[in-house]
Amino acid sequence: MRDPAADLHIHTYYSDGTMSPQEVVSEAVRAGLSAIAIADHDTIDGIPLAAEAGRKEGLEVLRAVELSCEQDGKDIHILGYLFEEESPLVRMLARMRQARMDRMERMLATLHGLGVTGISMEEVCARTRSNAVGRLHLAKILVEKGYARNLDQAFEKYLAEGGAAYFPKFKQTPREAIRLIKESGGLAVLAHPVITQRDELIPSMVRDGLDGLEAYYPNCRMEVVERYLKMAKENAILVTGGSDAHGEGKDNTFIGKAYAPYVHVERMKERKKRGG
Ligand code: AMP
Ligand code: ZN
Ligand code: FE
Ligand code: FE
Repeated sequence: MRDPAADLHIHTYYSDGTMSPQEVVSEAVRAGLSAIAIADHDTIDGIPLAAEAGRKEGLEVLRAVELSCEQDGKDIHILGYLFEEESPLVRMLARMRQARMDRMERMLATLHGLGVTGISMEEVCARTRSNAVGRLHLAKILVEKGYARNLDQAFEKYLAEGGAAYFPKFKQTPREAIRLIKESGGLAVLAHPVITQRDELIPSMVRDGLDGLEAYYPNCRMEVVERYLKMAKENAILVTGGSDAHGEGKDNTFIGKAYAPYVHVERMKERKKRGG
């Protein structure tokens, strides 16, 4: 048995994952994890069911959410952890999901104009339990209906920036997201810096109150993980990690593929207690 481990970045079908919260918990128990965090995009609706299943199966479930931000035209994802349930952040999530619905309407209308017909709003919404609709849902439908050969092609042709039906999502700046999370009693963590590749922005995010870096991430070379561990240490911020598992149909990651040693969960709780 390895040391206690925590996968702190998992999606369910409340956003664009394919697993239910209960399935996520069973899978995490099977993987031998001690703790997980459900970090859906713009929704926390999957968390109560995961927490209930976790209580039954002896798995700690932390509250989290993943927010899409933008700085200088570059997507930056900020994870919020351990925020209060009644908080400005949670109230804001409802508006973010409404913005996702509006954007999806526009994408479908544009696709319709391009001859990509027969995809309804209802059909897309049926893919998620909380109306956190997004491009991955639409990409899967485009593939299923034969409008694209695979997800990559669906993005390249239609949904990626520069694609024929691309519409930007409502996005705040990292500074705004960090403030919102911290006003809500939570901890703000930069998601997958290894993917985002904007390390030069980290110092200013730290000045804005960033609490941690997601150093452990799938398919990450040890020297890269170590670089982020060092950077976190130098800036006196936390380290987290997780698989970013979305279930079936998206990349090769799975629950427990990347994780942080459990000691980092303890440090998160200590930092929250100290007020971030
Ligand atoms: P959205 O939140 O609606 O902007 O959609 C983002 C989702 O689309 C995330 O799950 C991304 O990982 C996914 N995504 C973006 N580009 C691609 C791609 N080329 N192939 C597969 N998934 C992608
Ligand atoms: Zn996602
Ligand atoms: Fe992300
Ligand atoms: Fe994610």
